[in-house]
Amino acid sequence: MRVPVLTYHANNISGNDYASNDHVALVEDLRLIHRKGLRIVPLSHVVDVLLGIAPASDVENAVAISFDDGSWFDWHDIEHPTCGPQRGFAGILRDFAAETGAFVHATSFVIVSPGARAILDKTCLIGRGWWGDDWWPEAQREGLIAIESHSWDHNHHTLPITAQRDQRKGTFRTIDTYADAEAEIRQANDWLDARLAPHRVSLFAYPYGESNDYLVRAYLPRHESEHRLRAAFGTKPRPVEVSSNRWLLPRYVCGSDWKSPTELETVLA
Ligand SMILES: [Zn+2]
Repeated sequence: MRVPVLTYHANNISGNDYASNDHVALVEDLRLIHRKGLRIVPLSHVVDVLLGIAPASDVENAVAISFDDGSWFDWHDIEHPTCGPQRGFAGILRDFAAETGAFVHATSFVIVSPGARAILDKTCLIGRGWWGDDWWPEAQREGLIAIESHSWDHNHHTLPITAQRDQRKGTFRTIDTYADAEAEIRQANDWLDARLAPHRVSLFAYPYGESNDYLVRAYLPRHESEHRLRAAFGTKPRPVEVSSNRWLLPRYVCGSDWKSPTELETVLA
């Protein structure tokens, strides 16, 4: 088993070419994946294989796709204030499926707290209400994009108050006590499970790709019945393998780990 997990940020739009726009990159990358004869599988299937629930043949020659932060750009087509109309990630996936007939799926790791998203909509976007969760149940029902957790508030540096006890923000390494982990991880899962039932959240992506020994070696492995997760993803650029630590699985990030189709070919090889 060697499955690259590719990560895109729908909010990354500063131009309309591959290097400056994750939507443009996603369109091209899906075609490249298809041309190379690789399959796209849901990220949860990769975890099934890792945990021995499904056979390795299920993820042979496969890649998985994930999105981070969960804004409207994952779902809706939006007129960007400076870059013009942008096809949402969901539309890009549907276009690809219609064009090729191939199976496509992605997992969106969303920032869960409605209060945090209302502020991030102003501090990271332009305050038009583009970070709503209205589309999450619809996405989950359709089955094209699975909704999973990217923490309660991302411990984001632009928030006036986060769940971190000492307000040490802008990193996830400071989430290193049981109380902080419960507030950032379990609280998010409780909220999502209540809203998206019967779907049960089971995957987590560390904000900023940052973790620490407490989360990886203590909180996540020892409190499974409480947080109910099956795996957690960081951003070490490697494929997921049988030997990977389920509480710190690797992912490649568009714009950091590859910046062109040629560089993605290297990742996929
Ligand atoms: Zn993030």
